[in-house]
Parts: sequence; structure tokens; C-alpha cells
Amino acid sequence: MEQADAIVIGAGHNGLVAANLLADAGWSVLVLEATPNPGGAVRSGYVTAPGYLSDLFSSFYPLGFASPVMNALKLDLDWTHAPDVFTHLLPDGRAATVNRDLATTMASMEQFADGDGERWRHAYDDWRTVSAKMLGTILTPFPPIRAGLRLAAQLKVRDGLRLARRLLLSVRELGRELFRGEGAMLALAGCTLHTDLSPEEAGGGVYGWLLAMLGQECGWPVPVGGAQQITSALVSRLEARGGRVVYEAPVARILVARGRAVGVRTAGGGDWRATRAILADVPAPALFLDMVGTRWLPPRFVEDMSHFRWDGATVKVDWAVSAKMPWKNPAAGGAGTVHLGADLDGLTRYAAHLASNEVPPHPFLLLGQMTTADPTHSPPGTESLWAYTHLPHRESWSPAEIEEHVGRMEGVVEDYAPGFGRLVVGRNVFSPADLEREDPSLVGGALGGGTAAAYQQLFLRPIPGLGRPDTPIDRLFLASASAHPGGGVHGAPGGNAARAALARDRALTGDLYRALINTANRAIY
Ligand SMILES: Cc1cc2nc3c(=O)[nH]c(=O)nc-3n(C[C@H](O)[C@H](O)[C@H](O)COP(=O)(O)OP(=O)(O)OC[C@H]3O[C@@H](n4cnc5c(N)ncnc54)[C@H](O)[C@@H]3O)c2cc1C
Repeated sequence: MEQADAIVIGAGHNGLVAANLLADAGWSVLVLEATPNPGGAVRSGYVTAPGYLSDLFSSFYPLGFASPVMNALKLDLDWTHAPDVFTHLLPDGRAATVNRDLATTMASMEQFADGDGERWRHAYDDWRTVSAKMLGTILTPFPPIRAGLRLAAQLKVRDGLRLARRLLLSVRELGRELFRGEGAMLALAGCTLHTDLSPEEAGGGVYGWLLAMLGQECGWPVPVGGAQQITSALVSRLEARGGRVVYEAPVARILVARGRAVGVRTAGGGDWRATRAILADVPAPALFLDMVGTRWLPPRFVEDMSHFRWDGATVKVDWAVSAKMPWKNPAAGGAGTVHLGADLDGLTRYAAHLASNEVPPHPFLLLGQMTTADPTHSPPGTESLWAYTHLPHRESWSPAEIEEHVGRMEGVVEDYAPGFGRLVVGRNVFSPADLEREDPSLVGGALGGGTAAAYQQLFLRPIPGLGRPDTPIDRLFLASASAHPGGGVHGAPGGNAARAALARDRALTGDLYRALINTANRAIY
């Protein structure tokens, strides 16, 4: 039986971040990956037409760029930016654009209402006051004691209370409080809809604020050469420290002895022993219900897992476009990301269809112009384009339903960029099932490892508990987007899990650490 100090299940970026941190601490690390490729939802490939590189899943990385854990790894990456960060195209033809140059963004927002330019500056100043400490608070283990105290000390009670209120607002309410015109409100709301939250959902405002203001502060950068560069950098860093990734090794079981994780069994029946820790970069239901099994878990924990909520399904289309996009409003031409298909009420209608398990007749699209962001994606004068939209979370979708919906998506793009269809020279469609085939963690096409709703965040992620990577099984840690702080490429769940594994393993304090976790778990479950 092969053995290592740590086994990491899944070579997604979170698994690879965790593996790197453990290797840095001198541990021997083995990563077992189900598919033939590393990276999970951080990969690139040539799937549309020769010469057109597509980022198969994620592609813009403001969170990764700002993430303390990713930065500490000092990955060998060159970052680049589209001229504009993002543009929201309204059905009436107007455009709200965020640019890293504050004055340019202000001028765009000012078109929608007198004073909204200054209001944007004000919102950005507010963000700058708390941004570093907020990111420290969000992207570190829960409870965020040190970073949280630093933030609290800076804000004092009265500002702290107002920040707490802001964190609970829906994006529609937040937009109304901050701005007068629809442009700036939509800039936030479109960002919130990168998650599965509607414009009316409590706690949605903070996502819009975070993504839009991060865009203002540091852009939405991409690595030169595509998403794959992040994965390749993580894998080479790990291998340089003696770590190893084994491909086509889907883990089926966690081997548990006397309440302690001691190894894993792969689907082929091979057993692998872990002497110090097992870190799982897989969704929480897969880890607990499939791999561990209910026998080893407190009944209350199992019941809570039955309330775990996925985020919605996703359909993603990549296109090879033989010219630059023929946008009706040229303001979209320089944007890395374009939000299109809905104004604020349209976003609400789109979300209402999803909530009532209906296919949205007018889909809202997130669209990426990858060659505009990074010219290495396709030949000069062309565009490597993608768009994705959400569908309700269902057991299955027929090919005809998907094709029909792709038709609706292409119809939306055509409305905003007449002639687009004639320029398409290659296309790749990932249905929810295709996404899950490529990365088994994208269950039913869910891209966030579970809903971003407030009831599944912080100490409620993935289920009510400590919000920590520790599990009821000793030396088993949840390291995926299902753990706090959730989806996105920032490496925090992987980093948190690695730190917890190191804390558990410490000679003098490790047993005390585990005793505290056990006591808390007994109280909760
Ligand atoms: C279409 C799409 C667009 C997105 N856009 C962005 C974006 O622009 N920016 C951003 O920051 N985020 C984006 N995201 C979200 C982001 O990509 C994910 O939140 C993030 O990649 C999750 O990382 P992870 O390591 O937790 O999981 P994953 O990346 O899903 O990796 C999990 C890994 O575990 C493997 N695995 C699963 N089961 C097993 C098993 N039984 N045994 C062994 N291995 C297993 C999988 O094959 C996979 O390699 C997007 C996601 C999608 C799908």
C-alpha cells in the first residue's frame, strides 16, 4: 500500500494550494485526482477551433490576485488586464462600465444620474478603508479572530454596525442606498449574479460590492496564457517540493479506524495510507455522505447534510469568433467581462424563473472576451469568447433542452452584437452534465460548491457548525469550495484546511486542538 504524510483528494486549485502548504512544511504529499487533468474548474483547452484557446470554466481572477494565501505561494504567473474591467449592457442600449481608472468609471456612472460619479467615488473610498482587513477577515479561517479584531478596532462600534447592516442587504437595496441611477446599481447587481443569489436576496449586496470594488481597485486580471497557467504553476511548485499528483484515481471511500481517517480507497479498489492527514477538495455531500458514510457521523450532522443546498446549474458556451465583436454599443469592446440580457427588473425576473424551477425565457449572460483580456487566446483581430448562464438545479437535462437554451443565449448575444452569429467559426457547449463529467465536483453544473445564500455561509458552511475545515473524523479536513469562504479561485478553503491539518499534527498542542474540536462538535451535534 502506498503511503504519504498527507493525501489530498482532488487536484482542484484548493487541493493544490493545500498540498503546496503541507509540502512547504516538509510533509510528503500525494494528490489523488479523479480525472486525467489537474485544475478542476481552473483549466484551459483548444475546444472551439484551431488557434483559439478557451478557459474551460473560470477565467477572471480578482479573488486569486488579491488572495493572501495565493500570493504567499509566489506562483510564477504574469497577470494582464482587459482595457475595461467589465461593462453591463442594458437592453435599452446604454452601458455601465468599470475601469481601473476611477475617473473613467465615474464618467460612465454619471451618464445614468447626476452625482452618481461622485457617489461611486464615495462607495470606493468606503471600500478602500476596509478592503485589506475585509479580505483578511473573509479569506482566513473561521472564526476570523485576529483579522476580525483588527477590522473592529479600525471601525469602532458605530461604523461596525453600519458595515454589518451593509453585509446583510440585498443588492437591490444596497444599490438604492448608494446610487440614484440604474448604471451603478446594475454594476453591483450583475456582480452579485456571479453567485446564485437574486437581486432581492439578503446578503447578496456584499458580493456585488466586493467584486465591483475589487474590480475598481485591482481589476479582474487574467494570467497570460490562460487559466491553465494557475494550475500548471501550482502543480510544478508542488512537484518541485516532492509532492505527486496521481491521475484517474477517483477516491470512493475514506478509511476510518477508531474515529480517525487513516487512508482512502479508490474506485478501482486500491488502498492508500495517510499517516498524518487527509484533505478533501470535493463537495461536502460527496465527502461525508459518499466517502465517509453516515455510520461514522453524528445523526444530527447527517440530518443537517440533508439540508445542504447546491447552487444553480450552469450552461457554458465557448465560441471562436473570426473578428472583434460587432457590439451595437462600442463601450463593450474593451471589456474583459460583459454582463448582458437584463436590466435590474430583468435580473429579478431571470432569478424568479430559476427559483420556480423554470427555464428563463430571456437568459442573463456573463460573457468573457478572452482575447481582449489576453491576446494569447486567439489570432490578432479575432476573439475567443465565452458566455454562461444559469438553469434551475435539476437531475438531468435533455440534449434538445440544452440546444434550445443555447439558441436563446446566442439570440441574446446577437441582439447586442448583430452579425455575431456569422462570425462564429467554432463552438463548444458544456451542459450541466458535461461540466460534471469534466469536473465531478461541479455537481449538476453547480459552480460554487453550494449556494452562496447567507444561510450557508460562515459558521453555517457547509452546515451549521464551526465554519472550520475540521470534521467529526479526526485528521480529515474539508478543503473545497463547499467550506468557508466558498466558491471562487482564492485558495482559502485549501489554505484553511492545510493550516488545520498542521495544527492538529503539532506535537505539544495537537491533541488539545482536537479535544476542543470534539467538545464543540459534541455540543453542536
Ligand atoms: C463555468 C465556471 C466559471 C467560473 N468562473 C469563475 C471566475 O471567473 N473566477 C473565479 O474566481 N471563480 C470562478 N468559478 C468558480 C471557481 O472555478 C470554483 O469555485 C473553484 O475552481 C473551486 O475550486 P475547488 O478546488 O474547490 O474545486 P474544483 O475546481 O471543482 O476541483 C475539485 C477537483 O476534485 C476532483 N475530484 C472530484 N471528486 C473526486 C474524487 N472522488 N476523487 C478524486 N478527485 C476528485 C475533480 O476532478 C477536480 O479536479 C467558475 C466556475 C465555473 C464552473
